[in-house]
Order: sequence, then C-alpha cells, then structure tokens
Amino acid sequence: MERFRLKKALDMLARKEGRGTELVSLYVPPGKQISEVLNTLRQEYGTAANIKSDTTRSNVQDAITKTQQRLKLFKAVPRKGLVIFSGSIPQNGPGSERNETYVLTPPEPITINLYRCDSRFHTEHLQDMLKEKENYGILLMDASEATFAILHGRRLDITKEITSGIPGKMRAGGQSARRFERQRDAKVLEYFNRVGQHATDIFLGVENMKGIIIAGPGPTKYDFQKGDYLHYQLRDRVITTIDTAYVGNQGVKEVVDKAPEIMRKVRYIEEAKLVQDFLYQIGHDTGLGTYGEEEIRRALKMGAVRILLLSEALDIVRVTVKCSSCGRIEKETMKNKEVERFQQSLPGQPCPECKSPSLNADDVEDVVEELGEAATEANADVEIISSDTEEGQMLKNSFGGIAAILRFKL
Ligand SMILES: [Zn+2]
Repeated sequence: MERFRLKKALDMLARKEGRGTELVSLYVPPGKQISEVLNTLRQEYGTAANIKSDTTRSNVQDAITKTQQRLKLFKAVPRKGLVIFSGSIPQNGPGSERNETYVLTPPEPITINLYRCDSRFHTEHLQDMLKEKENYGILLMDASEATFAILHGRRLDITKEITSGIPGKMRAGGQSARRFERQRDAKVLEYFNRVGQHATDIFLGVENMKGIIIAGPGPTKYDFQKGDYLHYQLRDRVITTIDTAYVGNQGVKEVVDKAPEIMRKVRYIEEAKLVQDFLYQIGHDTGLGTYGEEEIRRALKMGAVRILLLSEALDIVRVTVKCSSCGRIEKETMKNKEVERFQQSLPGQPCPECKSPSLNADDVEDVVEELGEAATEANADVEIISSDTEEGQMLKNSFGGIAAILRFKL
C-alpha cells in the first residue's frame, strides 16, 4: 500500500510539465549537511539570474526559494534522505502557472546527490526504488560456460562464472571416437550437475525471488532444463527461456535488456490469475466472490475480505461533506472530474440536519487509497490490477473495478 501510494504520487508528478525548463528536482542523500545543500541552492539561484526569459527566470528562482524554505524545516537530512520537487505548473492552460512543491521521503536510502532544473520532475530514481524489491535470477549457459546473475530491480550482480570442461567434438571416427563421445557425455553430465548445484547455492536463498530466466545461445540450455538438474523449488520458478547471441557478460546484458518486458509479463500473469480466481468464485456461485463499492465496504467491515482487487484505472474519489454548524458528516463517492462542480454547488445549500448553509467538501480521498487502507487494516491483501490484460479490462468494465475474494460467505 505504501508502495502504491508512492507510485501514485510519482505517476502524478511524472505527468506534470513545466512551461519551460523551470522545474526543480532535488535529491539529498543521507549524511549530507543541510547547510551544504542550501549553499548549492544559493549558487543555483545566482546562476538563474542569467536566464533571459523573465517568466522562466522568475519561475526558476521561485522554485529554488520554495525548495530552500522546505529544506530549512529540517534540522538534519532524514535517515533515508530527502527528495524535493518544486516548480510552476500550468493549472489550466498557458498563463495559469502556480508553484507546486512536494517533499518526499524515499522508501530506501538514496545514494544520488542531484539538483536538476528541467521541464519535468526527475522522478525516475524513486520509480526505480519501487522496482528494487523484486529479484530475478539469470542462468546463462551454453556447452562451454555458464554465468549466474541476480537482477535486483535494475542493479545487476554477476555472481558466478564457470567453464564446462567439455571438449569440442572429435573429428576422427572409429573406436577411439566412440570412447571420446562416452567421455564427452560424462563431462556434460558432470557440467549439468555442477550448474544445478551452483544454481541452488546462488538462487535458493534469495529473498523475493520473482522468477528465474534461463538463457543462452544454442540448444544446451534446453538439454539442461529437460534433465533433472535444477532444484525443484527453482524449477517451479523458471518463468521463461530465451535465446541470446552471446554467453558471459555480453549475454547477461542481452537478458537484462529484455527483462522489463519479461517482468511486465510476469505481473500480467499474476494479475490475470487473481481476476480469474475471483471470476471462478462468481461463476461457480461459491459465495466467496463479491464486487461493487457498497458490497466491498460491507465485507471489509466484517473482516471477510481475503484479497481486495482494485483496478488501477479506477478514477473515483470519496468526498466528505461536513457541516460546520452542526458537525454532520456524510461521505459520497464520485468521479474525480465531478468533484469541482460538486464543491461549487455546495455554498448556499442547506444542511439536511440543521438547515444551515454551512456545507463544505474539502476532504477528498482517492477511493483506491481509502479502500486499500481499510483493507490493510482488516488484514486483507490488496492487489492493484492494471487494465493491460483482458482480465483487468473485465474487472474494470464488468465489475466496476472493485472486487474481492472472501474468507467466508456473507
Ligand atoms: Zn448542519
């Protein structure tokens, strides 16, 4: 959920665009002195004085000032560092720019020290961190050598490289050739066993191992996979087998280049399975599937939700309507784009309770976030489902984007 909240914030920030090169991104790693960073910003403020365009200059300097102000609120840089985004964002077409400043605490200690002024906020270093949690094992092999690597997010560790010891094919025929072939087969067997053993040593203890990718040029990797050389727990986690042109580091690089696509597929499969599980409950009338906002709220209250499925495309919010005279509170769900009109319609309207025209609706919360939080409190798993799969589309279009698999019948 925390990841989801950060992801959502970053997606929102990544979409923001400045009028020109005037959005400031500041990454401060732990251990750095606040005074040092303030110094850098003072220099940047001075440099910005040379910007020719009046608007851009004033916007950049404004962004730097706002960043300084936020920074000064900290006595020291937090344990995991600090990220500040500030800049003039058009609110409603050209000329409607207003400064927006965001302070974020990274989920893990940041290592980069960065000041950037650009037409966008540089969120990618935080985006990377969200992926960091997932690990993938890479086993790259052909008949001559094998390489073992682990991909932590985007960081790659080459853990081990071994050679096969298998001699090349023999050209001569006859008796000695047959003996040579037998020896060669024994070597292959010994090599495959060694590869399997190393794979166990290297991959089995890795936490959050999402999957193993087997790769390499030629047919050796398939021969290896067909045999019983991989630990059964690893065998279950092989997600794909891919052909590469090279072995060694070069080959690993080829795999890494394809990794984002592979990972997306893995997540799609997970998402599809979750929705299929829900559809099964509905289709077989087991009583363990339910959907729709009201139903889900009821099930959550009863502690009945095992897995809450929320469509990423769900663009609805929960608005709290308060009466400042009698304190009456009412919550309403509506589409994000309806909020403004709703808020504007409130002044002058009488409160249903005390009839005083004192209603306001300043408290607006994303339903995905709000339900997600309620589910976490109720010990349910929350799965955010993209609309990139057929199942995700179905969840969004046929079930209103909110569904659950239950622990017990209601
Ligand atoms: Zn009232």
